[in-house]
Amino acid sequence: MTGKIDKVGVIGAGQMGSGIAHVAALAGYGVKLYDLSAERIEAGIATISGNMARQVSSGKLEEKVRQEALARIAPATTMEGLADMDLVIEAATEDETVKRKIFAQLCPVLNPEALVATNTSSISITRLAAQTDRPERFIGIHFMNPVPVMKLVELVRGIATEDNTFETARTFVEALGKTITVAEDFPAFIVNRILLPMINEAIYTLYEGVGTVEAIDTAMKLGANHPMGPLQLADFIGLDTCLSIMQVLHEGLADSKYRPCPLLVKYVEAGWLGRKTGRGFYDYRGENPVPTR
Ligand code: NAD
Repeated sequence: MTGKIDKVGVIGAGQMGSGIAHVAALAGYGVKLYDLSAERIEAGIATISGNMARQVSSGKLEEKVRQEALARIAPATTMEGLADMDLVIEAATEDETVKRKIFAQLCPVLNPEALVATNTSSISITRLAAQTDRPERFIGIHFMNPVPVMKLVELVRGIATEDNTFETARTFVEALGKTITVAEDFPAFIVNRILLPMINEAIYTLYEGVGTVEAIDTAMKLGANHPMGPLQLADFIGLDTCLSIMQVLHEGLADSKYRPCPLLVKYVEAGWLGRKTGRGFYDYRGENPVPTR
């Protein structure tokens, strides 16, 4: 037996939260989007509107469907606005303290029957679940970036996640047209356990002067047939998110092979977080991206 999901709350209106709201609204769910300020929520909704408009231009979506989907997305300017959701997906900054605070605010106001999910890229689902009043109705639903394009979703159960929660989450993700892989609750799950050490190694390759940004990305695109170079991909993910994932791997698996590259730390300290801030391994402020090293 699975629970019925009609209304989905999304916490965090950044790259991932807006993408999750986008696909959920297109699949017919009523969506409420929450972030720290009304401006951020509005910016998230504007992103969704623009991304759906691109889907219309490329013939993937009808304008009528876009309008109907946009009408299904409403802002929630307080946590109370999420009280009657059936499922709330947390997609805020990759920082355990931030996520803990969110669950502490959310759970007391949320319908006790509702499911809570996190889109974390790396943090323990079991540990996050333990911060809530409903570890058995808590699960990791890990979408990939950009959500409307990427087909995969990793489902990660915490130690206490009930079968019913898992099946309800599976039904929801399948209704979005995504393919599921099931990952055990170990640091960074499957995709990022493999991907992030590769990106970190690319940054070491840059740090040690083995190649320039351009050389490293070209090498992996043309030499390994990757659709994007690893540094371009790091900028796309967000360098703060990359660093957080490496730190979780390093601490969680206690192996020096996961040591975050000092150059990655430096970029994050500079606030050069990649595409979302206009600068990372490339500078995106002009017409074409220009390598920053
Ligand atoms: P982002 O920086 O684009 O967005 C994060 C959003 O969270 C921001 O809008 C911020 O204002 C908001 N936020 C911060 N604190 C908050 C709070 N207390 N309450 C509500 N909102 C708050 O980051 P993102 O790339 O969207 O990543 C979000 C989550 O998704 C992270 O857990 C990340 O690990 C995960 N994720 C990211 C990717 C990726 O490629 N970027 C892929 C899969 C999963």
